[in-house]
Amino acid sequence: MSQKQIPSDYQATPRLLADRRILVTGAGDGIGRAVSLALAGHGATVILLGRTVHKLEAVYDQIIDAGGPQPALYPLNLAGAAPDDYQQLATRVEAELGGLEGLVHNAGILGSLSPLLHYDETEWMEVMQVNVNGAFFLTRACLPLLERAADASILFTSSNVGFHGRAYWGAYAVSKFASEGLMQVLAEEVEASGTLRVNSFNPGRVRTNMRAAAYPAEDPQSLLAPEEIVMPYLYLLGPDSRGINGQAYSFS
Ligand code: NDP
Repeated sequence: MSQKQIPSDYQATPRLLADRRILVTGAGDGIGRAVSLALAGHGATVILLGRTVHKLEAVYDQIIDAGGPQPALYPLNLAGAAPDDYQQLATRVEAELGGLEGLVHNAGILGSLSPLLHYDETEWMEVMQVNVNGAFFLTRACLPLLERAADASILFTSSNVGFHGRAYWGAYAVSKFASEGLMQVLAEEVEASGTLRVNSFNPGRVRTNMRAAAYPAEDPQSLLAPEEIVMPYLYLLGPDSRGINGQAYSFS
């Protein structure tokens, strides 16, 4: 599948996401942090999910300091979470916020770069647990809430190695192919709803801890900062992308 780009002149309006409740995984750092700040900056109530509480609290404080809607904190380690934990999460979101209009599957781990022959078994399973199983269980638990919304969007995070396999990228590459598969299967299943859409976004080369771990010799200044790639997230999560379903987007 070829990847699409959002309209090059797209600008999100200031209150684009007012009244939307959007859950972001991996919200404490990197792309998830920048996306959470941008969503709140455009009026969304963001549910900040991640495994490191102090990072989530720092994002929370930044949103409040900027005058954004009060976010919700949800510490959860996707590596150890069981299906019941996701059900509990959905129950709490419904009880405390009353509904959900957006879900961003952003949390991810790289694992190690090594030949498949030598790939560590435990690490393989952890990468699949965080990058694929976590996204599946979270999606399933939140689906009834998202289907009830008048207009809702689910966004999976993909990668170049999720479209073209690359030597030594092991579990990470396979997990990104799987995310794309999850997106396509779910998109077809919800197509008839007319209110819920499911797409993926490949952010490209972004200056984060994960990128630095994958390319230690690279000059970080040659990369875009996470804050520079948030516009497609706003577009794909907000009303301007209504009717777009089952599509793979990339930054460039
Ligand atoms: P970072 O490593 O900077 O951030 C990853 C986020 O996921 C962190 O907030 C991290 O939490 C969280 N996370 C990791 N493991 C878990 C877990 N077990 N439970 C809960 N949260 C977890 O990476 P990026 O921001 O670069 O990556 C974000 C997404 O973008 C990923 O899906 C990645 O694959 C994708 N991507 C990134 C590219 C890039 O160039 N940066 C390119 C293509 C795709 P904590 O901070 O606590 O560790």
